[in-house]
This record gives sequence, structure tokens and C-alpha cells, in this order.
Amino acid sequence: MNSIQIADKGFEIFLENDNICKRIRLIGIQLNLDYENRCPYFLGVLNGSFIFMADLLKEVTVSCEVGFIKISSYEGTESSGKIQQAFGLPDNLNERDVIVVEDIVDTGFTLGYIISEIKKQAPSSIKVCSLLLKPKALKSPIDELEYVGFEIENDFVVGYGLDYDGLGRNLKDIYKAKSV
Ligand code: 5GP
Repeated sequence: MNSIQIADKGFEIFLENDNICKRIRLIGIQLNLDYENRCPYFLGVLNGSFIFMADLLKEVTVSCEVGFIKISSYEGTESSGKIQQAFGLPDNLNERDVIVVEDIVDTGFTLGYIISEIKKQAPSSIKVCSLLLKPKALKSPIDELEYVGFEIENDFVVGYGLDYDGLGRNLKDIYKAKSV
């Protein structure tokens, strides 16, 4: 299907599942080389990363642990801006090699917050593996962003774990919003 409708929005096909899986296989090869004999901790960020995490981990052959966190964000006062809170962050990341698994990095605010929370536990290393990155939306560079599936324009995308208003996470392919 090249075009779909989700609620009030039209979307067109952007990245097909085959293409996504091919890219993930390459990332897996890289991770297996980089983390040989290191037993990394893969930390997925819910909800969007669940399908990516599952497909990625099938390509990882090094011994590893897997967990998930959930970030909630809400508007604070004008001075504090957006307040974020992490739920389910494991407390045993000290001296571990942590790999944060994200669906998409947009402004980078969410990721910046997650990295700062993990750093409090003094891990040996932190790297980020994100399926998608919008380089033009990124507010400041993130040194830990080591593995990126696809760099995309500032379009709104849905599918393969990503939602529009709670819908569309189950789509196999990734779609982008049609410009109106
Ligand atoms: P950031 O903090 O980097 O601006 O935003 C990251 C979060 O915003 C992602 O984890 C995701 O939940 C959401 N997000 C950013 N861009 C998109 C997009 O194009 N589509 C969807 N579905 N979510 C997005």
C-alpha cells in the first residue's frame, strides 16, 4: 500500500520493511564487532522502540542484557520548560556498557535527558542506537549517537513502532505525512 489514512492524516510509503531490516542487519554486524566480549546492556525507550529493539536484538550475537524505560514529559513552568521523568531505569548500570535504543531522534531533548540520567550511575560507556535521525531538527550535537539507521528530513513519520495519535505502531513499513 503506497498511501494510507490514519485518523485525519494522509501518509505515503517512505521506508519499506525489507529496506529497514537490511539496514538493521548491518547495524547488528557493527555492534557485534564493537561489543565483542563486553556484554552490553541494551536499553530501549518505550513505546516507539519496541519493534526496532526486537529486530535489532535478533541480529546481535554477543552476550547482552535487555531492558526498557519509559519517558513521560509534561509542560512545567515557563522557566523549567518541559519536565521529563524516566520510569523503570535499571539501577545496576554502574561500569556497564549501555546502548540506548531509540526509534527516532528529533530535537534530541529526550535523548539528552536519558543520557544525563544514565550518567548518574557512572557506566563504563554510553552509546545510542537510533533507527531514525532528523539531523536538521537536532538542537545540539549528541556525541553518544553512534549508530543511526536512516537520516531523514523533518517529516512526520509513522509505522514500525512509531505512532500518530496512538495509532499506526503496528504497520510493518514506515510512512511519512503527506504535505498538504
Ligand atoms: P525529541 O526529544 O528528540 O524531540 O523527540 C523524540 C521523540 O518524539 C521520539 O521518541 C518520538 O516519540 C517523538 N517523535 C519525534 N519525531 C517523530 C515523528 O516523526 N513521528 C513520530 N511518530 N514520533 C516522533
